[in-house]
Amino acid sequence: MSTLGIVALDAADYRLARDWNCDNLLLENHRELETFAYSNRYPNTVEVWTSAATGAHPEDHGLLSTGEHQDWRNPLLEYASKVAPYVLPKDVRVAIGTRLRGDNDDDGAGMAMRQTSHSHLFEPEGRVVRWWPGVTPGEHVSETWHWFNLASNGELSDAELWRRLYGNAGVELGWLQGMAQAEVAVAGIHMHVLDAAGHTFASHPDRLRDVYERVDAMVGSLRDRVGDLLIVSDHGMQVEWIDGDDEPGLHSWRALASTTLSEPPESVYDIRDWVDERADKGRDADRRAVMDTTEEQLRELGYLE
Ligand SMILES: [Zn+2]
Repeated sequence: MSTLGIVALDAADYRLARDWNCDNLLLENHRELETFAYSNRYPNTVEVWTSAATGAHPEDHGLLSTGEHQDWRNPLLEYASKVAPYVLPKDVRVAIGTRLRGDNDDDGAGMAMRQTSHSHLFEPEGRVVRWWPGVTPGEHVSETWHWFNLASNGELSDAELWRRLYGNAGVELGWLQGMAQAEVAVAGIHMHVLDAAGHTFASHPDRLRDVYERVDAMVGSLRDRVGDLLIVSDHGMQVEWIDGDDEPGLHSWRALASTTLSEPPESVYDIRDWVDERADKGRDADRRAVMDTTEEQLRELGYLE
């Protein structure tokens, strides 16, 4: 059974990936992926990822950007006013002021992104998804913004912030490798690190390039370990050094699609069908869980009471 691994690489910019020769982000075949903007001037993360998973327009999948949030120009300074409404359902927003003030072990706990009730590509038996906005609570996104908030208050050092962001990136890609060993048909993971980096380093090419190169190397480690790969982004990032990017730090239209298979999808709306056409069908659904240790032995070992 060969796993099709999908990396939802938020904000991976097609132009930047090519300019910086990120061969692992570009895989064997790549193209600029057509994306869309509905509620905002530029593509919106939740609207686009939900459309990618469902194949449906925001009017149909129901996760519209409320207009209360715009793209965050300076996440280090504007977290509370712009980002908080983005991730929180209205009824828990009241609580956020206090819970975001201090750092603690349950970073971001209780902060969940909205999820669609529309059918989506990860529903069939044998498919798994983690952290994908619109179809999971996407806790890592809230967590990232929480960390930026702490960094902006001087409660988190730059080094610690990036340690945490790369830590999450490793968890994400490691999970995908694990799912490939479990021989699932399709595994989808969302990564937030390039979006965070893009908003932060839109006028710092050296620092942004450094993040792209590290993520490229991490994605490279998947190539031998996951059967086939599809990498897609929801949008790119406008940067100061590209002519025509009038609003550096806001999303660009340069989304990316790449794959180890032929012909990447053309549009974010095509992703669901594209995956359905290529994913393995038959599953080991009837294979029972096996445990050779007896109940008595488990009791002796202290695993059972
Ligand atoms: Zn995004």
